[in-house]
Amino acid sequence: MSEPLKAVAVGTGLGVLLFLATNGVNLAPLLLLLAVAGVVAVSGGIRQMTGRTRIGATLRGGGASVPTVCFDDVGGQRAAKQELMEALDFLLHPDDIRRLGIRPLKGILFTGPPGTGKTLLAKAAANYTQSAFVAASGSEFIEMYAGVGAQRVRQLFAQARSLARREGRGSAIVFIDEIEVMAGRRGQHTSHLEYDQTLNQLLVELDGITSDDEVRVLLMAATNRADLLDPALLRPGRLDRIVQVDLPDREARRQILAIHTRHKPLAPDVDLDALARETFGFSGAHLESLCNEAAILAHRRRLEAIGQREFLEAVDKVLLGERIDRTLRQQDRRRVAVHEGGHALVSELVRPGSVASVTIVPRGSALGFVRQTPDDDPLLQTVTELRQEIMVCLAGSAAEHLAFGERSTGAANDFEKAWQIARRMVLAGLSKLGVVQEEALTPAQLYEAVTGILQEAEQATKALLEAHRGLLERLAGRLADAETLDGSTLREWLAEHSGRRVAEQVG
Ligand code: ATP
Repeated sequence: MSEPLKAVAVGTGLGVLLFLATNGVNLAPLLLLLAVAGVVAVSGGIRQMTGRTRIGATLRGGGASVPTVCFDDVGGQRAAKQELMEALDFLLHPDDIRRLGIRPLKGILFTGPPGTGKTLLAKAAANYTQSAFVAASGSEFIEMYAGVGAQRVRQLFAQARSLARREGRGSAIVFIDEIEVMAGRRGQHTSHLEYDQTLNQLLVELDGITSDDEVRVLLMAATNRADLLDPALLRPGRLDRIVQVDLPDREARRQILAIHTRHKPLAPDVDLDALARETFGFSGAHLESLCNEAAILAHRRRLEAIGQREFLEAVDKVLLGERIDRTLRQQDRRRVAVHEGGHALVSELVRPGSVASVTIVPRGSALGFVRQTPDDDPLLQTVTELRQEIMVCLAGSAAEHLAFGERSTGAANDFEKAWQIARRMVLAGLSKLGVVQEEALTPAQLYEAVTGILQEAEQATKALLEAHRGLLERLAGRLADAETLDGSTLREWLAEHSGRRVAEQVG
C-alpha cells in the first residue's frame, strides 16, 4: 500500500473509532483484536527482515558480489579443482553449450569432512567465472511455519538473479552450506510438511534453469552427510555433479601451510615439509588455525618472526587445546610420566622413528600426550600395522600396571581408540571370524572377536614392556624432569640408555 493511501486509511479508522466511542459503543474487544493483529504483523516483518539480512550478510565486498578468493588460494584438492573447472565451462562458454544442445549444468554438490575447503571452492568458482555469489546455510530455511522456508528459497534465487543483473553479470552462483538440513529425505521429519515444501521449492528452482536464461544460475551445495539427502535432489539433471573434497594429503598440507604463511614473517628454521609430515589428519581449517596459533605464540614471545618451535607447539594446541596451569599431585605426575613413557617406548619399539613428541604438560582434557607421525599417508594398513597401533594404545595402562601394580582411569580414551581399531579389523575380515557381514554379526560375536584381538595385543604389550622395564622407569624419570621431549631427542636418549639402538633390539 502506498504511503498517502496508508495515511487516509489510518485517519478514517481513527475517525470511525472516535465516532463509535462518543456514541457509547464498548470498544474494548475491538481494541484488543487490533493490538494482537499489530503484534503479529510487526513480528512477521522482523522475521522477514532478519531472513533477508542473514542471506544478504554473506555477500562480500560491499555490493561487488564476486568473492576475492581464487583457485590459487585453495591448497591441494587438485582433482576437485579440475572437476570443478571443467564443470564451470557451462558458465564461461554459454554459446558453445547452446550450439551443441548441451543441457545446462544446474547443480554441483561438494561432499567431504568439515573444514576441507568446500565453501572456499565455491567462492573460488564464483571468482573464476566472475559470477555474482549468494550464500546461505541450510538451517536458515527451516522454520516452524509452513511456507516460510520455500519463500526463502525463492528469495535466494531471485536475489542472485537481480544482483547479477544489477552488476551486469551473465551468471550467478547460489551456495547452500549444510544442505542436508533443508534437503533431507522427504517425509522423515515431524514437521515434514514444511521441510517437504522447502525442498520442493528448491527442486522447482533447479528445474526452472534453462540455457536461455538471461542470468545463468548455478546451485552449489555442501554437505558432510550426502547419505541423508533426498534422492530427488541428486537425480540426473539436478544436483548431479558430485565433487569429493577430502582431507589433504602430505603435499596438499604443505601447499595449504604455504598459503596461510605467505603473509607472515617466518624464521629461517621453518620447515613446511616437516610440518606437513607432522600434521597427518589435519583439515585445511586445522592448518589455518595452526598458522594463526603459531603467530600468536610468536607475538606472546615478542619475536620478530615465527620459528619452527612456535609451529610445533601450535600443532599440540590445535590438537588438544590450550595448555592448562594445573598442578598435579606428585604421585599423579609420576603416573602420567609412566603412562606416556609407556606409549612412547612401545611406539618406538614397534615402529622406530614414529614418535613426533611426548609430553606430560596437561592440555585440554589430556594430562599428557604422545603424538605419532605416520610413515606416509597410509591408504591401506596391514594386520601387523593395526596390531601395533593397538599395542601403542594399550601401552600406557600396561606401563602403569607394571610400575604401580594397578591401573587408573587415565586410559579410557586409549581403550576407546584400541576398541575402534579392533572393531575395524573384525569388520574388514581380519579377525579369526574371517570374512563377515556387519548386519549378520550378533553383538555378542562382535564383542568376542574384538576382545580377543585386544587381549592378544595386551599380552604382547605387557611382554614388551617387561623386557624393557628398567628403560621404561628411567624414561619416566627423564620425562618427569623435561616435561616434553621431541621425537629426535627421545630417540637419542633411548639409544644412549638402552646401550644399543632400540631399532636393532627389535630387529
Ligand atoms: P564446513 O563443512 O565445516 O562448512 P568447509 O569444507 O566448507 O567446512 P571452509 O569453510 O571452506 O571449509 O574452510 C574453512 C577455512 O579453512 C577456510 O576459510 C580456509 O582458511 C581454511 N581452508 C580449508 N581448506 C583449505 C584449502 N584447501 N586451502 C586453503 N585453506 C583452506
